[in-house]
Amino acid sequence: MKVIALILSGGEGKRFDKNLPKQFFKINDKTILEICVQKFIESNLFDKIIVVTNKKFLQKTKLSLNNNTVKLVYGGKTRQQSVYNGLKSIKSMKPKYVVIHDSVRPFVTKDFLKRMILSLKQKDCVIPFLKIYDSIRKIDKQIYQNIDREKIKLIQTPQGFNFKKIYEAHKAFINKEYTDDSIIAYKNGCKINFIDGELLNIKITTKKDFNKIKRFYEENKKNNMVRVGNGFDVHKFTKGKFITLLGVKIPFNRSLEGHSDADVGIHSLVDAIFGAISKGDIGDHFPPSQKRWKNMNSEFFLKYAQKALDKDNQSINNLDITIICEKPKISLFKNRMKKNISKILKIDENIINIKATTTEKLGFLGREEGIACQSIVTISKK
Ligand code: ZN
Repeated sequence: MKVIALILSGGEGKRFDKNLPKQFFKINDKTILEICVQKFIESNLFDKIIVVTNKKFLQKTKLSLNNNTVKLVYGGKTRQQSVYNGLKSIKSMKPKYVVIHDSVRPFVTKDFLKRMILSLKQKDCVIPFLKIYDSIRKIDKQIYQNIDREKIKLIQTPQGFNFKKIYEAHKAFINKEYTDDSIIAYKNGCKINFIDGELLNIKITTKKDFNKIKRFYEENKKNNMVRVGNGFDVHKFTKGKFITLLGVKIPFNRSLEGHSDADVGIHSLVDAIFGAISKGDIGDHFPPSQKRWKNMNSEFFLKYAQKALDKDNQSINNLDITIICEKPKISLFKNRMKKNISKILKIDENIINIKATTTEKLGFLGREEGIACQSIVTISKK
C-alpha cells in the first residue's frame, strides 16, 4: 500500500505579512513549514512526501527543509490548482492513498497521522472535524439569528483520500474554486468518513494569533528544558572510628579527612546541584578558608543547595550517585542513605539511585587511601 503526503506550501497570504509567506515564520528557530514536514517524516507512515511550493520561494523552501527525502513540486495560482499539480506529479508513482495537508497547520500530531492512515485502510475519504461548543449566530445588519450548532462542524486538514478518487474529483472540478478537498471529493460522489480532529491543530492565519502561539510554544520549550549537573569529590582516610556518607554514619576502622565532616557523597551531590543551576561549586559558597565551616555537618550544605534550587523554581527529576571505594561495603547502608537524601531534598525516594563500585584495586582508591563519589542530577522548571 503506497501512501503519499502532499503538503501545501504555495500560499502567499499577503494579509499575514507583505513580504514573507507565513509558512516561513519561525517558532523555536524552525519555520512553520519545517515543523509541519518534520511530523510527516518522523511518523514513518509515508512512502513519499511532496511539498507543493511557490516558484518565488523555492530557495527559501529548500533551505527550510534541507532534506532529500522530500520532493518539491510547483503549485498553481490557487490552493485547488496547487493540489491538482501535486496530484498530477505523483500519478506515475501509482499511490493507493494520498494525504493532503496545509503547511500552516504545523501542530498536527504523529498520533493523528497514525489514526488517519488506519482509517484510510478501511475507507476512501477520511476527513477530520471538530464539534463546536460555542453558540453560533448569523449576524448581518439588524439580524441576529440562532444557528443549530449540532449541524455545524469545523473541517481540518490533513485529509486522506483514495488517490484515484480524489484525482478524478479534482479533474472534474478543475474550473471551480473550493477551500478544501473534501468538498470536491463529496461533489464528485465520494462518501465522506469523519474522524475526530485535533483542537490544537489550528490553522495559523493572523500575525496576532501567530505571535501568541509562538510565545506559548517558546515558553513551553524553555520550561520543559532539562538541565544536567555533575559533581565529583574525593576525601582521604585518616585515623578514626567511623565515616559519614550521604548523611549516614558508618562504623569503620578509619575516618575521612576534610574541613567539614568530609561527607564525600553529599559534597559531590551539592556540586551536581550547583552545576545544574549554573551556580559554581561548593567551595564558592562555603570556602574552606572560613573557620565557620570547620566540622560542619554537610547536610547544611545540601539544605542550602535545595533552597537554591527552590529559588530558581527548579525541581529534581532524578539523581544518580556512585560511591567509589574498596571498603567499607556500602550496600547495607544504601536504603538509609536514600531515605536521608529524600528527606533533605524533599524528593521521592524512587528518583534517587545509589550505586557503589571499586576501581579493581587500581590507583589511590584501589590502595584504600580514600573514597570518591560522583553524582549526576537532572532538573527542570517546576
Ligand atoms: Zn568534599
